[in-house]
Amino acid sequence: MFKKVSKKFALLIVAMFTLGIILSGCATTQNNQSNSSSTTPSSNESTKAPEKIKIGFSMDNLALERWQKDRDLFVKKAQELGAEVLVQSANSDPQLQYSQCQNLLAQGIQVLVILPTDGSAIAPIVEEAHKAGVKVLAYDRLIMNSDLDYYVSFDNVKVGELQAEAITKLVPKGRYFLLEGSPTDNNAKLFYEGQMKVLKPLVDKGDIKIVGEQWAKNWDTNEAYKIMQNALVANNNKIDAVVAANDSTALGAIRALDEQGLAGKIPISGQDADLANCQLIVEGKQTMTVYKPIVLEATKAAEMAVSIAKGEKVETNGTVNNGKIDVPSMLLTPIAVDKNNMVDTVIKDGFQKLEDVYKNVSKDLS
Ligand code: BGC
Repeated sequence: MFKKVSKKFALLIVAMFTLGIILSGCATTQNNQSNSSSTTPSSNESTKAPEKIKIGFSMDNLALERWQKDRDLFVKKAQELGAEVLVQSANSDPQLQYSQCQNLLAQGIQVLVILPTDGSAIAPIVEEAHKAGVKVLAYDRLIMNSDLDYYVSFDNVKVGELQAEAITKLVPKGRYFLLEGSPTDNNAKLFYEGQMKVLKPLVDKGDIKIVGEQWAKNWDTNEAYKIMQNALVANNNKIDAVVAANDSTALGAIRALDEQGLAGKIPISGQDADLANCQLIVEGKQTMTVYKPIVLEATKAAEMAVSIAKGEKVETNGTVNNGKIDVPSMLLTPIAVDKNNMVDTVIKDGFQKLEDVYKNVSKDLS
């Protein structure tokens, strides 16, 4: 009896086991089938090496010292993360930049990173990229009125505030000339906005008079030089302070001031901590610059681009409105630098070398 029961029981177990195998086999097949119809991986997908991430980086120009640094840092980080980067420079030509972006899209990139020459003219490329299944990350300068996916930059209004604060501390009353950046760069407008936050109350009080305000096409040094020359002539050299939006424009303005024996006598701001400007600061011919740790910006951008390509969650810390949408953004903090904190900031970070910055002046290192 016991034998009979146990034999029947054993048969039942075998039958159930066999049925289990058949059922689980069916489920696997079904899963495979539904997978292959929805996400199209081939049956040998797991054995195929994953496709290398390809990022397109379209840059306004590479003439400025900072953009070369940005490119090198971005490419290095992206490569460390296993991606390949195709870089194109548009020589400050918005049309060329547009066609270079189209060309990058045709090369099968997964993410398009753009430092725009003209933030409005480039806007339609965002839709073209989306049609090709490519997301767009604006680098440093915003792309306007589009469904831009991400933006990485500094707090650019703050940059303008730092510039005006440093100059008004030295010249709380007087005649000011404003040398602004490229009219097609949204950042230039934000720097101006930040400067005016500080200057406007003093203008309203009657302490400061803005005797002129001009925008330098493409942030060009020669253009800035001519603007400053004309401003000095128009004002009989009676200018007490210059708020310059960045280092390339400050460089031109300082050349014009130097010709009149005014360099070092008229406070002037800048931005970028370019080597030539850091030298002018320690020599006393430029008052300050705004240092933006580019290593952070370029590294964050590369990390964001790779996360986008992998479909991972992208780290952001706010949004910026581009006229159409609030763009998820990563905004970093700028730092005001003058001759007192040059060593503790720009040099300590390895952004410029001490021996280069102090090449023309003696520095007591004790
Ligand atoms: C950047 C500045 C730079 C300027 C000129 C701006 O968009 O934020 O750092 O000096 O462009 O290239």
